[in-house]
Amino acid sequence: MADSCVFCAIVEGRIPSHKVYEDEKTLAFLDIHPSAPGHTLVIPKAHVARVEDLLEEDARYLFAALHRIVWRIQEAVGAPASTISINNGRESGQEVPHVHIHVIPRGKGDRGGII
Ligand code: 5GP
Ligand code: ZN
Repeated sequence: MADSCVFCAIVEGRIPSHKVYEDEKTLAFLDIHPSAPGHTLVIPKAHVARVEDLLEEDARYLFAALHRIVWRIQEAVGAPASTISINNGRESGQEVPHVHIHVIPRGKGDRGGII
């Protein structure tokens, strides 16, 4: 756990969040500045900055959690699709240096772009 990391603070309950899903190694919660209703962040509980730093087991849990919740997020907000993305490293636009998967519900004609 990194003391100064905002997502570690969320994992530890030091900062409140709206939780969407939790298991032994993974947490998902709503993004505080959503790009669309239901915008969710899926994170490993262990603090690592980048995908390549993840333990293989944590990577497996992370993708399994994504697989488990993505359709539920879409269904909850009535979205037929979603953009799923990871900013991996500061130069890619990653602002919080704790691995996170963005799940952004999408609909026809919304103003979101493509990757
Ligand atoms: P990044 O640019 O690093 O890929 O995305 C970081 C995301 O974390 C942003 O979408 C931002 O809105 C979100 N975020 C930053 N701080 C907090 C926070 O304290 N709580 C929540 N729920 N989301 C946060
Ligand atoms: Zn962290």
